[in-house]
Amino acid sequence: MENLLRMDRMPHIWCPGCGIGLGVTALASALEKAQIDLNNVCIVSGIGCTGRVAGYVKLDSFHTTHGRAIAFATGIKAANPKLKVIVFSGDGDLIAIGGNHFIHAARRNIDMLVVCVNNFIYAMTGGQVAPTTPLAAYATTSPFGCVEPPFNIPYIADSSGAVYVARWTALHVRRLTNSLTEALHKKGFSVVEVISPCAMYYSRINRLGDGLDMMKFYHDNVEIRHGEDTKNLDIGFQTKIICGKFVDKERPSYMERYNQWASEVRGASNES
Ligand code: SF4
Repeated sequence: MENLLRMDRMPHIWCPGCGIGLGVTALASALEKAQIDLNNVCIVSGIGCTGRVAGYVKLDSFHTTHGRAIAFATGIKAANPKLKVIVFSGDGDLIAIGGNHFIHAARRNIDMLVVCVNNFIYAMTGGQVAPTTPLAAYATTSPFGCVEPPFNIPYIADSSGAVYVARWTALHVRRLTNSLTEALHKKGFSVVEVISPCAMYYSRINRLGDGLDMMKFYHDNVEIRHGEDTKNLDIGFQTKIICGKFVDKERPSYMERYNQWASEVRGASNES
């Protein structure tokens, strides 16, 4: 995997027990398994602990502004459609600040793979509540527990039009790798959520132990249900987490629609 990492940037900034590195490992393995020409792969991240990924991979990569990874990725894909564009960022970046970009890229079915590391909190900025923080969980800005219902990321992706939606935890590296490998071959907007421990903030503030304790929790509380209706994938505070592949369908990507539309319009104007 070292051939995919900028080893001169090591050691990385992630805390002991953080799950982000496992997500990167899974993606690196998936890229090798998928046998995609790495010269045609581009990785885009936003801001946050997960946003650092773009700086560590030895591929064409963009570390963009907060919440705008998908907007940058859309521009990259439109400018050079032959690229395999991968967005790798966190829940705060993609689903809160970048929420609008997420739903509209899904609606348009922009051809990209979005890997969303969900650690239930804004980590890099100090453990603030996020739109993924489970009800009643503590954060530095919710000292009496979160009162806002969290987003269900697979349901947002599915209902907005994503063609591939899966969820795994950082414990399920082999299954996550298989999912990413499959999603890399998919045409259209594909989303893989990776539930991941934030040992520094989420686990500490909620007295859940360290990263290893969170892995044990995933081991004991994950239910794998492929094909589950995405409406049923809410995550509560320390409740069971449903993982699996939920959506795998076909519909024309944005570029396919655009090219077809453009040729029809050109044909019509040539006839007139
Ligand atoms: S603050 Fe949390 S998410 Fe960020 S590197 Fe540390 S453990 Fe990981």
